Amino acid sequence: MEAELNAALAERRAQALYRARRVVAGPQAPQQVIDGRQVLSFCSNDYLGLANHPEVIAALRRGADAYGVGAGAAHLINGHSRAHHALEEELAAFTGRERALLFSTGYMANLGVITALLGKTDAVFEDRLNHASLIDAGRLCGARLRRYRHADPSSLDGLLDRHPRGRRLIVTDGVFSMDGDLAPLPALAATASARDAWLMVDDAHGLGVLGREGRGSLDHFGVGAHEAPVLMGTLGKAFGTSGAFVAGSEALIETLIQQARTYVYTTALPPALAEATRASLRLLQHGDERRERLASLIRRFRHGADQLGLHLMTSETPIQPIVMGAAARAVAVSEALLQRGILVTAIRPPTVPAGSARLRVTLSAAHSEAQVDRLLEALGEVAA
Ligand SMILES: *Cc1c(COP(=O)(O)O)cnc(C)c1O
Repeated sequence: MEAELNAALAERRAQALYRARRVVAGPQAPQQVIDGRQVLSFCSNDYLGLANHPEVIAALRRGADAYGVGAGAAHLINGHSRAHHALEEELAAFTGRERALLFSTGYMANLGVITALLGKTDAVFEDRLNHASLIDAGRLCGARLRRYRHADPSSLDGLLDRHPRGRRLIVTDGVFSMDGDLAPLPALAATASARDAWLMVDDAHGLGVLGREGRGSLDHFGVGAHEAPVLMGTLGKAFGTSGAFVAGSEALIETLIQQARTYVYTTALPPALAEATRASLRLLQHGDERRERLASLIRRFRHGADQLGLHLMTSETPIQPIVMGAAARAVAVSEALLQRGILVTAIRPPTVPAGSARLRVTLSAAHSEAQVDRLLEALGEVAA
């Protein structure tokens, strides 16, 4: 086995697909020490700069004083603390739904929901570019998995046509994590309602960034809870903490508590983390100034990149990928940027389709205009 593994690893390296970690010293911030050197980074999902916010850190400390560190057990045993419960109520109010349920990660939330709701006699319809956790959940749940063309309601409609029986769940990212574009939520909701199917939205990258008070992509489009009954959100991105939640009706949440295996059979998040997230939720809701700063940095970046003739994707979100094509070119440009002290990770297949390797630039309200200009200047030297 060892020899086989080594051969496969060598093959990966030869194709410029080898992945390696970088070691970060200190908190998440635009200016970081990575592998021992100062870099300016543009790859974090900490869109509002809350991961290192003093109020969030203070709440985590107070939470640790009150609850200690580990939750000690699963939610259904004796791990469900007042901190978790309060956060769930606040997330339900924030998203305008009856209930919310915390999960330890977004990956687990997606697996839990889809496997709890669907079985062999059902069908799940997913956008081709959905996050890996949604695709994995679709494979695991035992239902028929059908993938429709990216952001294409008519492709979805054709597939629904061919699967008239059983429960039918349509699943989409709200903001696509590697492209930064928005799902056509009003059209997907209309298709779901016309076909009597349920719509689930994974809004990992929309919450905190889009909509009134950062309520996400559904709010951005004015799509209500009855049109998209399952909302999943993660806490590790704009919230700046860790974990995830599902928000929806009383019946949905009670079903998940009974049946979502990734909820039932795992230790609850540390309660202190729930306290930290309560603080970050308050900052996020009152974060219009941060969102405006972010929007202005996005405009500045897009304008500058356009002038350099770079191939940007159509994205109005903080995710601003620059398409490079071949994996080797994406890696070479990423390395050339790093030599200039700028970190932008290259995203390669299988995370994105073959031939569409890209530099995934992400912007944060914590960046300054001067930092965005530094990125543009470096891109002008190495990518234009
Ligand atoms: C990050 C992400 C997840 C996974 O969330 P984690 O909490 O990091 O496990 C799920 N869906 C989307 C769209 C994501 O971007």
